[in-house]
Parts: sequence; structure tokens; C-alpha cells
Amino acid sequence: MIILGAGFGGLECAKKLDGKDVDVLILDRNNFHTFTPLLYQVASSLLNPSDICFPVRKAFRGSPNVRFRQAEVVGFDFPGKRVLLRNGDTERYDHLVVAAGTRTHHFGNETIEKRSLGLKNISEALELRNHVLRCLEEAGDRPVADQTPWMTFVIVGGGPTGIEYAGALAELMALVVKPEYPMIREGARIVLVEGRDELLPAFHPSLGAYARQRLEQLGVEVRTGQLVDSLVGDEVRFKSGEVIESKTLVWSAGVRPEDVAEDGPTRERSHRMEVDAYCRIPDAPGAFAIGDIAGFVGEDGAELPMVSPPAMQQGRYVADFILQQSSVTGRDADPDHPPFRYWDKGMMATIGRGHAVAQAGSLRFTGIIGWFAWLIVHIYYLIGFRNRLLVLGGWSWNYIFYDRPVRIIAGAKQLPALPGSD
Ligand SMILES: Cc1cc2nc3c(=O)[nH]c(=O)nc-3n(C[C@H](O)[C@H](O)[C@H](O)COP(=O)(O)OP(=O)(O)OC[C@H]3O[C@@H](n4cnc5c(N)ncnc54)[C@H](O)[C@@H]3O)c2cc1C
Repeated sequence: MIILGAGFGGLECAKKLDGKDVDVLILDRNNFHTFTPLLYQVASSLLNPSDICFPVRKAFRGSPNVRFRQAEVVGFDFPGKRVLLRNGDTERYDHLVVAAGTRTHHFGNETIEKRSLGLKNISEALELRNHVLRCLEEAGDRPVADQTPWMTFVIVGGGPTGIEYAGALAELMALVVKPEYPMIREGARIVLVEGRDELLPAFHPSLGAYARQRLEQLGVEVRTGQLVDSLVGDEVRFKSGEVIESKTLVWSAGVRPEDVAEDGPTRERSHRMEVDAYCRIPDAPGAFAIGDIAGFVGEDGAELPMVSPPAMQQGRYVADFILQQSSVTGRDADPDHPPFRYWDKGMMATIGRGHAVAQAGSLRFTGIIGWFAWLIVHIYYLIGFRNRLLVLGGWSWNYIFYDRPVRIIAGAKQLPALPGSD
């Protein structure tokens, strides 16, 4: 069988099948798994990329039945039970689990797509880190009157990614600008823009209000009910006509399924792959879709949220389903097998040191309690003992010494080009 994607869903599925009587081939364009919840800490110079990524081959070292191939999948031949690869090869399957996740969605806005910076994967996190550090260098090299666009950072999207990054960026600026860039007199201006009227729309409104208050205490300008229209030159233009001079637009306002989803039936609004109550793709024998790419409809009639718990739970569920079919009955579907049920364990997000919001059912936490809950959950789910140790070390270092050590503009003999400066 083939698992497409070594993200949260695919990896969990493979772990459940490890050591069982099934040949498993994992395909991924990257040779590592990324722990996305901590990407913003790589982008804000707190952690190294290798602290939150884990090589797939190492995860299955010594496995008798799980193999890995680094390859990009460009499509499926569902009737022929084949996966089509970018290099022209094909791979055959008896069972297929599509766990390819999502990519950034710019809603067709070309200027924003071309010029904005994303925070969806490790390359984007590094590009954002390099860009922000470079802005500090450039601002420090200019007269005060010319520093504004370099030191103004606009972040679009008031969901967990946007607020976590805004908080972390505000702390980075507070820690480094005054002591290390005394020539930057005005400090940084950080603007967080959300189209809806509140932050964290998926959370209870009281938690969105708490996040707003906390961000404002950190000096972030929070703009709700406002939409960014375009990015022209150094101008971030709002739908209202307002213009903010800035070199930086961070886009965390939307995602859409990876392109391979289009080879199957998709849901009309979300473009996620259609699946039935057993995570099976209709009219594609032996094929399943799980996680963010799958438009699984939950008990409330809405599609499941694009967060890691549904992906992981579906990964384990589909592994069980496949094992049951192939090893016990050999049939394509067992009418007695229970459908997938999502267990919602809650959601959380941090807003700088010592502050977080968390909700689980009717329970809601803020402040230091929410923050500790966030730390424990993230260390628990991080893959690899070394990574856990390094992340804990990085957090402790930052907590005790107020330091962001990973301030390296890496990867180029010359300074990397700023987006849009072609
Ligand atoms: C910045 C950020 C912060 C987040 N924070 C949280 C959080 O705090 N809590 C939470 O629960 N969720 C969080 N999420 C959401 C969470 O990451 C996703 O819900 C989860 O990763 C979905 O798992 P998945 O298995 O569906 O896809 P992914 O984990 O995205 O994995 C998809 C895999 O497929 C591979 N792939 C995709 N297309 C192809 C192709 N064509 N060929 C080969 N390989 C391919 C990718 O390289 C990737 O490895 C965050 C996401 C981001 C971007």
C-alpha cells in the first residue's frame, strides 16, 4: 500500500502499520516530517529547523515493512490503482492513503501571492526569518526618516498562526532592537489584520478577546474587520483605501488542499476531497483521504477542522480499517466496521511568553495555566527524544536569558533578495 504524505496523518497511519503484515511505501516531496505548530518559533529566531523536523527514514529505521521514497506526486490513476510521480514514474497500490495536506491560499490575488511571505512549511519559515533579520540590518543602515517601511511588519490572518507569530515577532523586536540596533529609534511597528470582527474565530469569543488584549500589551496594532487588498511597491493597500508603508506582508489568512486533490471528487466550497464515513474516496477502490486534504463531514454537518488531531485520528482509523480488510477478510469493505468518529480534544494557541489560550469542551484556560498546558502538549506530540530535548532547552534558554539565539541570515553568499525585488 501507499501513503502519500509524511505529515501528521500519514505518519500516524504508517506507525500503526509498522511491523504488520502489509507492505507500506510512504511518498513525500520532503524527506522529513515537520511539526508545524512550532514553525512560528523557527520564523522568529527561537528554534532551529532541525529541532522541529524529523527524517522519515529514521522514524522507520529497522522497520520490516515500512519504506520511504522521496518523490512528488502529481496525480492518481484511480481505476488503474496507480500514483503518478513528477519524474514520470508510477507506483502501484492495492490501498492508497492520501494525506497530502494543504498549501497557502491567496484567493487569486496575484500581487499578494507574488510578494507576501508565508508560514506553511520550513522553507517559508526560514525565508521569513531571513527577511525579518535582513529588514533590521537594512533599517539600521539608513537614516531614521527612511527606516519606516523596513520596520513595519503587516501580518494578515487572526487565527492561531497569525497571533502566535505576531506575539513572537513583537517579543523578538523588544529583545533585540534597543540593545543591538540603537540607530533604529522608533522600534518596530507590527500590524495584525483580520477580516472578521474578532481574533481566533474558531475559539470561544472570550479567548479571542484575551488574545487581542495580550497582543496590544505587547505593542501589536490589532485591526479586525479589515481586509488587505494588494501589495504594490512598499505599500500594503487596504480595501478601505488606507495604505501602510511596509516591506513585509506575512500571509496566514487561508489554506487550500494540495493540487493532487483535484484528481478526485472535491467538495464545492472547501475544495477538499470528498470522502465517506469510512474516509474512502468515492469511485476509487482501495483509496482513502485523511487529514486536511479530506473534506470529512462531522456529526454537526460541518467539515472537520484543519488541525492535527483529526489527521492523526483518521490515520490510525484507516490503518485499522485496511488491516482488517486485507489480513482478515480480504474483502473491500466490511459492513460491520464502525465509521470514523472524531474526538475533539480542544484547541490552544500562545501569545508570547507566559500567555496562551486553550479550550477543551466547556473548559477554557488563559494566562500561565493555558501556557503550561500548551508547553506540555507540544513537547508530548513532538517526534524524537533529541527534538524534545532541544526544544525544551531552547524554551528554557529564552525564558531565563531573554534571548533569541538563532538570528542567522543563512543560505546565501550575498544577502537573499527581498520578495518582489526582481
Ligand atoms: C504554521 C502552522 C501552525 C499550525 N499549528 C497547529 C497547532 O498548533 N495545532 C494543530 O493541531 N494544528 C496546527 N496546524 C495545522 C496542522 O499542521 C495540520 O492540520 C496538519 O499538519 C494536517 O496533517 P496532514 O497529515 O493532513 O497534512 P500535513 O501534516 O500538512 O502533511 C502533508 C505532507 O504531504 C506532503 N505532500 C503534499 N503534497 C505532496 C505531493 N504532491 N507529493 C509528495 N508529497 C506531498 C507534504 O510534504 C507533507 O509532508 C498548523 C499549521 C501551520 C501551517
